[in-house]
Amino acid sequence: MKTLSDLHNTTNTAVVTTNPVSITSDFAVGSSDVVLMAGPCSVESYAQTRAAAEAVARVGGRVLRGGAFKPRTSPDSFQGLGEQGLEILRDVADEFGLLVITEALAVEHVPLVAKFADIIQLGSRNMQHYPLLWAVGELDKPVMLKRGFMSTIDEWLKAAEHISSRGNTNIILCERGIRTFETATRNTLDTNGIALVKQRSPYPVIADPSHATGRADLVLPAARAAIAAGADGLLVEFHPDPARALSDGDQSLPLTALPHFVAEIGKLTAVFNRKFT
Ligand code: PEP
Ligand code: MN
Repeated sequence: MKTLSDLHNTTNTAVVTTNPVSITSDFAVGSSDVVLMAGPCSVESYAQTRAAAEAVARVGGRVLRGGAFKPRTSPDSFQGLGEQGLEILRDVADEFGLLVITEALAVEHVPLVAKFADIIQLGSRNMQHYPLLWAVGELDKPVMLKRGFMSTIDEWLKAAEHISSRGNTNIILCERGIRTFETATRNTLDTNGIALVKQRSPYPVIADPSHATGRADLVLPAARAAIAAGADGLLVEFHPDPARALSDGDQSLPLTALPHFVAEIGKLTAVFNRKFT
């Protein structure tokens, strides 16, 4: 009788295994561990970012997220602290022994962001900004490529090829929700896409349940779904005081919720023999 994996191999050309991306000598994304990348949407101040770093370190997390250059839908919204934001991130991350992931919004920011970040994030709105893909492709630094919210899986994987075509294969993919007809949530988390990309691409896949749902109360259930679909990690927005956040407060969990979130996801990753760290 045919096994499930025989069926896979007759209907798909091949199931690709994930190549871990090393961030430091002792930390990789895409290994048997599921990684947590947590922190505020935007770096707003030293105190706010330090509080986030302290909370992430306390639960054993390794990666602090935070935007210094923000792609905002409205030009009137907070656009980020820029270089000062990068300095704050690096400072507080170093204090607590964390790694930094932050977005490069424009080609001219790439050298500066590369100086401060351990992983460079490319945002959803920039997934097909080819000069930006080429610029990070020239570096030897891990890059996390978010899926465009109106992009197909093929377009996403082709965008990753633009990065690797310049030599950099330290690529991590991030499913952050796509626009569908549904308006009750900000986006729709494509769990099919997570499972499919895990089969088709050697790159680790991170899920972002914060932007995928737009609602703090849906972040944990969406995160669970992503892990069950095979995600190698979670990018999650946490803020000391979500009601006062300068961006994405509605989808940000309070820092006080981080221990519970980690405990709950840890129970699930254990089912798959994976540690959540
Ligand atoms: C973010 O991670 O804060 C962000 C701007 O995400 P996206 O590019 O997915 O909208
Ligand atoms: Mn955000």
